[in-house]
Amino acid sequence: MSIIVFSENRIGKIKKQSLEAVAYATYISKNNSKPVIAISVGNVNNDELAVLAKYGASKIISITDSNWQNHDSQAYTKLIAEIVEKESADTIIFSHSNMGKAIAPRLSVRLKAGLASNVLALPLSYSPYVFKRKSYNGNAFQQMKIKSQKCVITINPNSCDLVESPVSVNITDFTPTTVANAATKVENIDLITGKILLTEASVVVSGGRGLKSSDNWKPLEELAEVLGAGLACSRPVSDEGWRSHEEHVGQTGKIIAPDLYFAVGISGAIQHIGGISGSKVIVAINKDKDAPIFSYANYGILGDAFDVLPKLIESVKKFKSA
Ligand SMILES: Cc1cc2nc3c(=O)[nH]c(=O)nc-3n(C[C@H](O)[C@H](O)[C@H](O)COP(=O)(O)OP(=O)(O)OC[C@H]3O[C@@H](n4cnc5c(N)ncnc54)[C@H](O)[C@@H]3O)c2cc1C
Repeated sequence: MSIIVFSENRIGKIKKQSLEAVAYATYISKNNSKPVIAISVGNVNNDELAVLAKYGASKIISITDSNWQNHDSQAYTKLIAEIVEKESADTIIFSHSNMGKAIAPRLSVRLKAGLASNVLALPLSYSPYVFKRKSYNGNAFQQMKIKSQKCVITINPNSCDLVESPVSVNITDFTPTTVANAATKVENIDLITGKILLTEASVVVSGGRGLKSSDNWKPLEELAEVLGAGLACSRPVSDEGWRSHEEHVGQTGKIIAPDLYFAVGISGAIQHIGGISGSKVIVAINKDKDAPIFSYANYGILGDAFDVLPKLIESVKKFKSA
């Protein structure tokens, strides 16, 4: 038996969330001695693939065929099922990313495997597996026992420490028997580059309706720049067209889990919290002392964002130059 991790990449670079998924698998393998096998689909060179071995993947199955470059959940499900069979895997791990969320449920149906999505921590028990997971949009936690022989899980960012466990690696090119993109064909992709990916960022600065208009984003952009942070926003901000939808975080937007999250002029509605509750430290800046965000925040600054932000930017600059 083995543990399979589906690793994701962006423009040939393995995503941090996938390294976490491999580290998570390695923690499990220390308990049950099953080898960790990573699957990579896309144009990722062997040096980059070898990074997966730093976190414990002893075998990497790489599919570089150009027909498989574009994500198609149905085709990828068949591909992964084929590899699961070939490698006698009983535990299949995805990041709780858009791709993971799209493929994992399909794969669990195909394999008749129990699915634990939104997993937050290392298993509470290994035989049978019991996972702690987020439910009700992050407002409750569940312990889920897997009763089937195979299990599929999606793990949240920051669910385990990214600890290196280097092993020697065997990288194998794989040609699937299943057909890629049978039902659809991607004609063209316009990739947004040069921006910090919110799902990968360790610091995120986020603005809400409290900033009042799209013209007031300069101080947020400046804070993000001095911190090397990604920029995010609440849903009404993107609905109003002040910022683009790709920055919207929450239940209907991106789910992020940075080390540090700044919520500026954001009230802290449940739907917003659902997307950011995995953050390690939350700092809220709000002028309403009763704003719900303060009950989720580790640090709260009560004040007008337009007064607080310039002082914060100045302090960060001073700290960095000291
Ligand atoms: C099905 C559904 C899904 C949803 N999905 C999402 C989602 O994914 N993400 C999301 O964010 N929302 C989502 N929402 C909307 C959510 O319910 C809230 O309406 C939204 O999060 C509120 O956004 P906000 O905090 O920016 O604005 P508001 O709730 O209007 O809060 C603005 C805050 O700014 C503060 N403020 C005002 N002026 C200043 C100032 N000068 N300085 C400092 N603070 C100031 C105010 O005190 C207030 O707390 C969803 C709603 C539904 C029904």
